[in-house]
Amino acid sequence: MTNLLDETRYELALANRIIAHEGVLDGFGHVSVRHPHDPGRYLLARSRSPELIEPSDLLEFTLDSEPVTPPKGEMYGERVIHGCIYQARPDVTAVCHHHSHAVLPFCVADVPFEPVFHMGPVMGQTVPLWDSRDEFGDTDLMVVKPEEGRSLARSLGANWMVLMARHGATVAGRTLRELVFRTVYSHANAEIQLRALAIGKIAPLNQAERQRAEPRQLQPRPMARAWEYWTTRLAKANGLPPQAAARSAAKAKAKRSTKEASKAARKRTVKARAKRSRR
Ligand code: MN
Repeated sequence: MTNLLDETRYELALANRIIAHEGVLDGFGHVSVRHPHDPGRYLLARSRSPELIEPSDLLEFTLDSEPVTPPKGEMYGERVIHGCIYQARPDVTAVCHHHSHAVLPFCVADVPFEPVFHMGPVMGQTVPLWDSRDEFGDTDLMVVKPEEGRSLARSLGANWMVLMARHGATVAGRTLRELVFRTVYSHANAEIQLRALAIGKIAPLNQAERQRAEPRQLQPRPMARAWEYWTTRLAKANGLPPQAAARSAAKAKAKRSTKEASKAARKRTVKARAKRSRR
């Protein structure tokens, strides 16, 4: 049996790989989760492409985005995005920062990003746009200073997704699975909205529909169904984090040894019966 921290580390490695496999993250971007035993800390990988993350790559950070123990390798430059959102939002348990090629056009063109199909409202009722130029002028666009992270977190406000002008987006969730759901389906919405814009005038969901659809889609049943689907797709692509392979191998071994044990027991019974009948 593994403990809650091990489970969380495995799920975070899995979340990184799922979001990458679904085409939202590429070599860049990252996913974090608040520490399950200490709300003043969060878990985030060392600097590595999301689809390669293993539980052993995960580091612990304070909410000031300082590593709890000095890391051996490189760290992500933009980790203040995570720490500053956890500081500002006690209700947030997981954060994803990405540069989705479907969402990015809405961070560049003067076109509102809006829910255009029934899953779209998981982006949240409002998706603000943060522009680094407003407070910081000409930068290299990376969010690395604590004041830049705090500014982004202020722009996110009480919402669940914030677009970052000429850069990407950041998504938050009350749980890790909710975060993955919001991230993948807001990316899907962006793809659909782009296609719709290419063929004609769009008619997004109205306010009442958005308010009804968001909680409906975030119920346990649809979230569990999507999680199973994404995990299965990842498994078929041989993309599960290594701990799972070890775990399922251990399960198979346990099953084999139970089978062997019962086979041996059956053999013993047959022998004993034969002995008895010889008497
Ligand atoms: Mn970035």
